[in-house]
Amino acid sequence: MHLITQRDIIRQIASKWSAQYAPFQDYSPRWRREGEIKLGVFMELTELDKETATKEDVDKIIGNESWTRIKCDQCKKEVTAVLQVGEPLSYESATANLCQKCVEQVSAISWENVKVVAPPPAGASAETGVKP
Ligand SMILES: [Zn+2]
Repeated sequence: MHLITQRDIIRQIASKWSAQYAPFQDYSPRWRREGEIKLGVFMELTELDKETATKEDVDKIIGNESWTRIKCDQCKKEVTAVLQVGEPLSYESATANLCQKCVEQVSAISWENVKVVAPPPAGASAETGVKP
């Protein structure tokens, strides 16, 4: 379990971009221009001051918000920090990112008032399982 903040994401953005797209010179001739674009983005991300750059600075370089967006898996809201719980994040891992509000709601649940509820159907929002 560990906290992920917007600053953490900005600090790691260049290395994550590189892990996703490098080596930039190895793109096939047909995709060479794409490799050059990815390299250009990497260079700009590398040159950012990771302690003062904003989410907007990073989004502008990359061209979208997908690399800096932090979303709570419980309430689905965009937030600036989440607590990552469960298995270490990987493809198909049982990992959840929870915002501060949801963590506080979970920690306030009294187990004596928890009732057993059937799991929600796929795609439906989960009930808290707490009696009113
Ligand atoms: Zn939440």
